Amino acid sequence: MKVPTTSVSTRHGSGHGSGHGSGHGSGHGTRRVPPPSLASVASSLLVALPLLVAPVPAMAAVAADEGSRVGPFESRAVPGGIAAVDLGPADGARPEAHWNGRRVAVLAEDGRWHAIVGIPLGTGPGVQRVTFDAADGTEGGVDFTVDAMAYEEQRLVIEDTRKVNPEPLDMRRIEKENARLKVVKATRVEELLAGTGGFDWPVAGPVSSPFGLRRFYNDQPRRPHGGIDIAAPEGSDIRAPADGLVLETGDYFFNGNSVFIEHGLGLQTFYAHMSRIDVAAGERVSRGQVIGAVGATGRVTGPHLHWSVGLNATWVDPLLVLGTDAPPER
Ligand SMILES: [Zn+2]
Repeated sequence: MKVPTTSVSTRHGSGHGSGHGSGHGSGHGTRRVPPPSLASVASSLLVALPLLVAPVPAMAAVAADEGSRVGPFESRAVPGGIAAVDLGPADGARPEAHWNGRRVAVLAEDGRWHAIVGIPLGTGPGVQRVTFDAADGTEGGVDFTVDAMAYEEQRLVIEDTRKVNPEPLDMRRIEKENARLKVVKATRVEELLAGTGGFDWPVAGPVSSPFGLRRFYNDQPRRPHGGIDIAAPEGSDIRAPADGLVLETGDYFFNGNSVFIEHGLGLQTFYAHMSRIDVAAGERVSRGQVIGAVGATGRVTGPHLHWSVGLNATWVDPLLVLGTDAPPER
């Protein structure tokens, strides 16, 4: 189980329904530590004993809506994927839903509520449960199955060895950046700014490196690839793939010049290695607006856009939110 205490705002539903005031830059007000063990205890119990839990009739079926689209999300319940889980008829106010100690997005589609769960790459196959609290006070849980998924290995040679084995001074900077990004990733706007259609590609060009690759830098294992790389010449325009709110911009040790956009309900996009940044934290951006340009800053082997999509503070395969699988040609 992964850091159950790093929850997104767990009790934000009421009073913040339409606002995005908490989404600006600092975002400190939005993090909450969930009731300590409740979620983790419940989920470990329920996952360990799936056959002993008497299912409510509606939860008998275990599969997520595989391959279906809910809003901008395509459902594919694998590590690094997205599970769209049917919570029942969409009467009344939107329920709050949690998985693995984190609040997850909830969207209405075809008259039913769906929890939209971003599944971390490290998740093993098996049954998982989303819990929810409806506005009328009822509570429930719905099971879904995570299938196995094998990602390929990739070996890269980085000439600047300090970007592979950072010095103590670098480590202090990296730790500060990671703490900052944790706050950013836990910040959410309580409405789907992005709209319900699939996202546009942020830049034209071929995918040079897919999502989920198990990476080795100079033969040393590092975190799997949490996004896709799109090859494009230095200086190419990067455009917002959907409406959103800029949460953060900055120069990061590994990621170079970076931008973080919240598209609502915890759906976020992240842009790295930019040569230029044209937006600032707190700024609303529209689909198609230029937010900066492709570059080669940070830990890179050449100019490209590294693009990540986050859901409940979890990187998922960007192809699952894109409107088209094939990138536009240059
Ligand atoms: Zn990348």
